[in-house]
Amino acid sequence: MIAILGGGITALSAAHELKKQGKKFILLEANSFLGGKIQSRQMEGYTFELGPNTVVINNRETKELLEDLNLYTSRILPEENAINNRFVLKHGKMEPFPNSLKKAINSKLFQWGTLLSILKEPFVKVSSQKEESLAAFSRRRLSKQILDDFITPFVTGIYAGDPEKMSVNHTMSMIKDAERKHGSIIKGMVKFMKEKKQEREEFDLPKQKIFTFQNGLQELIVAIEKQLNNNIQLNARVKSISFEGNKYGIVYEQDNEEKAIYVDKIISTIPAKNLAELVQSKDVALAKSLFAIHYVSAGVMHLAFDKKDIDIHDSFGLLSRKEEKVPFLGVLFNSSFFPHQSKKDSHLLTIIYGGERGKELLNKSDAELQELMIASLKEVLKIKGKPNFFHRKDWGYAIPQYELGYDEVIEKIENFQNAHPNFYIAGNFYKGISVSDCIANGKAIATNL
Ligand SMILES: Cc1cc2nc3c(=O)[nH]c(=O)nc-3n(C[C@H](O)[C@H](O)[C@H](O)COP(=O)(O)OP(=O)(O)OC[C@H]3O[C@@H](n4cnc5c(N)ncnc54)[C@H](O)[C@@H]3O)c2cc1C
Repeated sequence: MIAILGGGITALSAAHELKKQGKKFILLEANSFLGGKIQSRQMEGYTFELGPNTVVINNRETKELLEDLNLYTSRILPEENAINNRFVLKHGKMEPFPNSLKKAINSKLFQWGTLLSILKEPFVKVSSQKEESLAAFSRRRLSKQILDDFITPFVTGIYAGDPEKMSVNHTMSMIKDAERKHGSIIKGMVKFMKEKKQEREEFDLPKQKIFTFQNGLQELIVAIEKQLNNNIQLNARVKSISFEGNKYGIVYEQDNEEKAIYVDKIISTIPAKNLAELVQSKDVALAKSLFAIHYVSAGVMHLAFDKKDIDIHDSFGLLSRKEEKVPFLGVLFNSSFFPHQSKKDSHLLTIIYGGERGKELLNKSDAELQELMIASLKEVLKIKGKPNFFHRKDWGYAIPQYELGYDEVIEKIENFQNAHPNFYIAGNFYKGISVSDCIANGKAIATNL
């Protein structure tokens, strides 16, 4: 018997694989619902996400999962003319993210200095430093301008963290690998793109990788849940684990009652601090490392305006530079790239805030925060009227950061797994935070059990 701890996407991917293999297992989830950070809502004619907005098919595991669930063909792809248009806020203006020569010429983000830094990059000396922050690495190989205008907005959009603290090895391993293997990011990225193209062709991965579903990403959770009815225990918070010879004793609380089960294997997918609490009596060093993983808090606000009251470009959205001093990290123009998510006569936005830059915003009242966001966007989006829809979700322990010193986390996890080969550790604080990473990691563990 196998126990899966947690019911987020990592757990569900593992559970789906175990079900396919006909293995006996139980999944214990503390909440009354599955999905973890993936939670979609439908309200007042809008469809929106409290957690991830989109999933990217950049590995075969994600594609296979969708195919198994008959969901591959019901993906909703973003509007072509919107998805490749992205903006960065610089000096209060929306500057096009230069992903083509034409946009580069028209964007204030792309300067002669930018071009020069790119041309010089292949000649920058390779560093022998074992560890370096993403910011230090970017300044050394490229320039401060590229860090401020491109890299920081981009990684803040994913991690909501601080590039000065993030480990380049673990946050953007492909650029560090490029330096290590090819002596240059540019040369390495050319190789990397070729490999990705080959992988795309080999596994027939779609060209447009981003998707959602008609009723949001929750459809994925519902489809997996349907197959697993007998295996799932909801409202089941795992409270302790005892290590008893070849078995594990798990105590969990459900309906105010303590229940115990014995299993041969455990797949843990719960967040780092929750796992730390369960293993601290057995492995103090691992628990210490897990408690030390920094999770940033983040908030997600949805606002909708009548179309006449706001000027939204055909675009995916807008990321802010750290220097802009605006209260948001990024804004997604959902009604532009996924029109089905909005009422026809309105524009729906997702505003992401908090993170390492704006922790204090999570303490603000709904009215205060709404006012602050509208004031900061008023000029760039030419907002005239009041929103016709508002929703807010704050995540206290939102996104794990792979910061300097993360090597030690890996070492402690590996030591623990060597000592306890039937206890598997997964979840977004280990081997990638994206939904597609979580799907791949959950599947890999279940396949190799
Ligand atoms: C606001 C936000 C936006 C994001 N945007 C994107 C995006 O656009 N694209 C993308 O790819 N990724 C995005 N991510 C990241 C991605 O959503 C997460 O990394 C991923 O969903 C995490 O899945 P998980 O299964 O590892 O963990 P979780 O989803 O956190 O699930 C862990 C589960 O464990 C349960 N649990 C905890 N303790 C116990 C216990 N003791 N016993 C039993 N159960 C327990 C919890 O209740 C939870 O359900 C975003 C994340 C956030 C927060």
